[in-house]
Amino acid sequence: MQWIDISTFKALRQMLAEDVKILGGGTKLLQEGPLPNRVMDLSSLPIEQGLYQAPDGSVHIGPQTTLEDLLNWPDTPNDIKRVLKKMGAVPFRNLATVIGRLANREDISDLYPVMRLYQTQVTFVTPITGVPQERPLTWESPELPEAWLEVVIPPKTSAYPLVEFLKFGKSSQSRTLLNVTAGLQPVPATPFWTLTLIVSGITPAPQEWHWTESGEAIFSVVTGQLGERCFSVTADPFECHLIRSYWDILAQRLEERLGGI
Ligand SMILES: Cc1cc2nc3c(=O)[nH]c(=O)nc-3n(C[C@H](O)[C@H](O)[C@H](O)COP(=O)(O)OP(=O)(O)OC[C@H]3O[C@@H](n4cnc5c(N)ncnc54)[C@H](O)[C@@H]3O)c2cc1C
Repeated sequence: MQWIDISTFKALRQMLAEDVKILGGGTKLLQEGPLPNRVMDLSSLPIEQGLYQAPDGSVHIGPQTTLEDLLNWPDTPNDIKRVLKKMGAVPFRNLATVIGRLANREDISDLYPVMRLYQTQVTFVTPITGVPQERPLTWESPELPEAWLEVVIPPKTSAYPLVEFLKFGKSSQSRTLLNVTAGLQPVPATPFWTLTLIVSGITPAPQEWHWTESGEAIFSVVTGQLGERCFSVTADPFECHLIRSYWDILAQRLEERLGGI
């Protein structure tokens, strides 16, 4: 395997065009499947590599930021910290990068749902333009190879969502098989709330469902409609039963937090 050190955007663009894989912590790229012939490392690129808060309050996460860095950073929102704590053990979190986890579209990710609910933005480069562009964090695989330079959690201008999640694995040692994450956010200047449920593990891409209702109605409406939504994407009654049971727990936690606001 050849290791390529990239120090200019010109070189990055060239290597992307040649489909050279980007190395984060290597916990997926160097451990699963055949090793790539060539990998490139972005650590010499003249960009912010770590974690910082901009004057507008947005949180910027560069390519060398590990899961453990984000977990231990004082300004990381608590709901994101709670997810990070449930991801593997410390030695793994010291290696795996935030960007490597989000750019890697395995059929399940514990970090994607909470970062999506926080309306995270991605700054990336493709071989076509070679200049940094921005877009919201989504699951869809891009048509062109991308180098992610940073992910940005926007400033807390409106309230951050209340986030609760549950993950299900075959045993405590195994990877997650199902992750159900719920985010509750007020609709500004109305008595309504938007509830977003992101379910990953039952289909190759996470399912994202939304409801907007008044605070009194939202939990019962979701409970009433969840079965139908679930059976529209899987015929497996066990998965739908699990998702509904998880929702009951998440709804109870969210209702308690809502009562405390
Ligand atoms: C022991 C262990 C426990 C785990 N536990 C969990 C868990 O609890 N929850 C969970 O969700 N996942 C878990 N995982 C999966 C893990 O999160 C993935 O392996 C993840 O991709 C790790 O990030 P990395 O930095 O090591 O990525 P790498 O392996 O380096 O790269 C992964 C992918 O991301 C791409 N990539 C990396 N950096 C960039 C960049 N800057 N721009 C564009 N693409 C990039 C790579 O090219 C590659 O395709 C676990 C894995 C292990 C080995």
